[in-house]
Amino acid sequence: MAAVTSSSLLRNCATTTVRAFVTVKASNPNFRTFLLPLHSRRSLCRVSATNNEEAAAKVAAANADRGAPTIFDKIIAKEIPSTIVYEDDKVLAFRDINPQAPVHVVIIPKNRDGLTELGKAESRHVEILGQLLYAGKKVAEKEGILHGFRVVINNGPEGCQSVYHLHLHLLGLIFFSLWVLIPDFNTERLFLFCSQWLQSPPLLS
Ligand code: AMP
Repeated sequence: MAAVTSSSLLRNCATTTVRAFVTVKASNPNFRTFLLPLHSRRSLCRVSATNNEEAAAKVAAANADRGAPTIFDKIIAKEIPSTIVYEDDKVLAFRDINPQAPVHVVIIPKNRDGLTELGKAESRHVEILGQLLYAGKKVAEKEGILHGFRVVINNGPEGCQSVYHLHLHLLGLIFFSLWVLIPDFNTERLFLFCSQWLQSPPLLS
């Protein structure tokens, strides 16, 4: 029963995805950004990670153990550009450079304070952990996705964490991302499906 339900959910999502693609693609700049790097996309939500992802995550984890600064320190210091969508004295939120969904915002504590990953959290971090989640709600509100969004934290090499400065991924309009839940997700097949649909859309009535 569960399998039937999930396969029909995926079928419905596929239809919804492509129809919505037609509707929003011209008007939503985030969506365009989301579509463009599709071929090189690293999946946040995919159940199984690729070998490359795991290898890169292991290297990043080894650097984290040495307390090395990360790319996020440069973003906090504004040494490299980022698109900041929310900022207060404790938290910074900016658009992910490699979006996995039309809305994809990374939310970080400005002071890492040993929080390289959630698994390193201690009782002193409780306040900032709450502030990060609350910032997530504020960003969702600003982005107009309060009705539905996803928060993801990748933890450690086996969770394919690549930047060792604790962060939340806030994902919105994730109907467009449901494809990546399929373990053997194949972006070429998705492109083919979309382009065939666009060339000869099925009759809707
Ligand atoms: P994770 O793999 O969970 O550690 O997530 C790290 C995220 O940081 C990835 O989604 C990257 O795309 C993102 N990222 C890395 N460098 C930048 C950058 N310079 N600006 C924005 N996002 C970045």
